[in-house]
Amino acid sequence: MPSLDIFQYPYNSDNYGILLHSRETGETAAIDAGDANALQAALKDNGWSLSHIFITHHHADHTAGLETAKKNSNCKVTGPGLSSQIPGLDKTVVHGDTFQFAGVEIQVIHTPGHTRDMMNFYLPSENAVFTGDTLFALGCGRLFEGDAEMMWNSLELLKKLPPETTVYCSHEYTEANASFAITIDPENEDLISRIESIREKRANNQPTVPSKLSEELRTNPFLRADAPEIRAQLNMQHASDVEVFAEIRARKDNF
Ligand code: ZN
Ligand code: FE
Repeated sequence: MPSLDIFQYPYNSDNYGILLHSRETGETAAIDAGDANALQAALKDNGWSLSHIFITHHHADHTAGLETAKKNSNCKVTGPGLSSQIPGLDKTVVHGDTFQFAGVEIQVIHTPGHTRDMMNFYLPSENAVFTGDTLFALGCGRLFEGDAEMMWNSLELLKKLPPETTVYCSHEYTEANASFAITIDPENEDLISRIESIREKRANNQPTVPSKLSEELRTNPFLRADAPEIRAQLNMQHASDVEVFAEIRARKDNF
């Protein structure tokens, strides 16, 4: 059974980048390339050299280092087939595609909403999903290019992954997300205790990413638009899931 080392590193003010490394083949893939220097430093720290980059979406904080990283390493870049805004893609993928990295299967999940081109990468054998700016710990991405229905449908796809899946998102937004989440779901005991542990981690400058999908399902209000207690809190018992989700997203935008 092939398995990968997963290394998470911070860059910019609140971004996380990921390296996937195979000890068997020596190959190393980066999820996104927002900062070429930070990526290079992460590779150097581990003594790895870059063979692949998998891009989630076109935003600069995920792609600004792409051209330099490619020039430095000659790596192969895979990214969203729907985007014309990402230069230097060697291969494009669409929803439902699967491909191999170092003998490990990667499934492509298209999750539009934050952007139209957003691709998430699910690695069943590693129990890991890389959600870009779609699903955050206790949050979800802003709707820059899509609408609430699009994002809710995208989140529904992620909700169907096995609950034991580890969720790697691209930003450390968790503490701010927590302050908002409790206004939507104030009686949720799992949320209350999660917030305590989040505040403790951040006070010690520790990452709150990754998280488990099971805890997101219990505590992330953006995954819980169908939960009766949230509908009651918002006085939206008879609204559709999309309407409830849109209301939660709108409140967060103004929080
Ligand atoms: Zn983004
Ligand atoms: Fe981002």
